[in-house]
Amino acid sequence: MSTVIAGGPSLPQERRVVTEIPGPKSRELFARKQAAVPPGIGTTLPVFVTHAGGGVVVDADGNSLIDFGSGIAVTSVGNSAPRVVERVRKQVADFTHTCFMVTPYESYVEVCEKLNRLTPGDHEKRTFLLNSGAEAVENAVKVARHATGRQAVVVFDHGYHGRTLLTMSLTAKNMPYKHRFGPFAPEIYRVPLAYPFRWPTGPENCAEEAAAQAIDQITKQIGAENVAAVVIEPISGEGGFIEPAKGFLPKIAEFCRENGIVFIADEVQTGFSRTGDLFACEDEGIVPDIIVTAKGIAGGLPLAAVTGRAEILDKVHVGGLGGTYGGNPLACEAALGVLETIEADDLTGKARRIGEIMLPRLRSIAEKTPAIGDVRGRGAMIAIELIVPGTKDPHPTAAAEIAKKCHAEGLLVLTAGTYGNVLRFLPPLVMPDHLLEEGLAILEKAISEV
Ligand SMILES: *Cc1c(COP(=O)(O)O)cnc(C)c1O
Repeated sequence: MSTVIAGGPSLPQERRVVTEIPGPKSRELFARKQAAVPPGIGTTLPVFVTHAGGGVVVDADGNSLIDFGSGIAVTSVGNSAPRVVERVRKQVADFTHTCFMVTPYESYVEVCEKLNRLTPGDHEKRTFLLNSGAEAVENAVKVARHATGRQAVVVFDHGYHGRTLLTMSLTAKNMPYKHRFGPFAPEIYRVPLAYPFRWPTGPENCAEEAAAQAIDQITKQIGAENVAAVVIEPISGEGGFIEPAKGFLPKIAEFCRENGIVFIADEVQTGFSRTGDLFACEDEGIVPDIIVTAKGIAGGLPLAAVTGRAEILDKVHVGGLGGTYGGNPLACEAALGVLETIEADDLTGKARRIGEIMLPRLRSIAEKTPAIGDVRGRGAMIAIELIVPGTKDPHPTAAAEIAKKCHAEGLLVLTAGTYGNVLRFLPPLVMPDHLLEEGLAILEKAISEV
């Protein structure tokens, strides 16, 4: 007789390591994966999941891992969050798809109304829905080109915007995202990002100098009047959780405003309370012309959104935007459940609290660890950058080894960064304190051993 366990927050909130990680059942499943799925689809940690909820992920061998990844910043409300489950369960029985462009339904409109109200700025807005972050970024660029009649798109060093042709072209890093996948989309220009830790003249000068260089390159090399859009992550995600030096984003936004350039904030990773604000742009009072969201929007159901100024989005002709599945009714119900949960359970406050616990702890570890060059991030989007002690040279093998040790102890962490030398932490915002503390203790031990 086996006990029936359900996922979601009712799962025991404990770390439990009962086999090697990965255990025998996961290893067997992984062998099947390798035979059936191409290696291009990589694996961070080859444990096969059976349940997840709150702050844990449970695998086929019965191990319960502390989750510092949230499926890459997606399950911010926790896996199978009750309000999400309840709404999706009802919806799946009522109807599963009509195509919003064929015969619409209310939940899509309600998600759009809420995003129009909740995103930065009190101007008149419109929203439309898509399936993935990449698809939404593509659509934001389409809209900006259409509205401005211009073609050039400006992106930044360390930027990540997706894996489709246009968004891969917008992405900075060659390996693994672009290597041998060219030719790339045209009319994309990359300019410097204010990366305080690696700014040659130091963090104090970073915002001013980086903005001046970026603006100089735009005006001299492209011509501001040719630029449709600037696309930027308010905190770089895959690039290594780089928080641009304060002052940089407002300067770029102001330059866009003065030159009729559509400022597109890619908040796919930072959105929905992750950084301790509902949207990361709020930190410096940035009001983007278009904001792109996905990941945390629907608790794991595929959904993405483009929200922007009505006068920009309304320019596109009837039928010019859309897609078969965009704003699928299950995903819309999930998003409404996420938004209710964020508000009812103050997940924005919870994200701040996670940052207040993690940052001082990591800073004190960094003080005694010369291989940690930088501790950064906001809310529940925190990272450490590993360096060769005594230099600023990136140390990707240290990051990989620490991650490996954490995994073996039942703590799921992710790496990131242009140089692969960043450990990033994205716990679900519902992570209980005791698991957060336990995870940090495991991390500290792994760091001291490496
Ligand atoms: C993940 C991500 C994307 C791409 O989203 P997908 O849903 O994987 O297509 C785009 N931008 C940022 C900042 C991301 O983190």
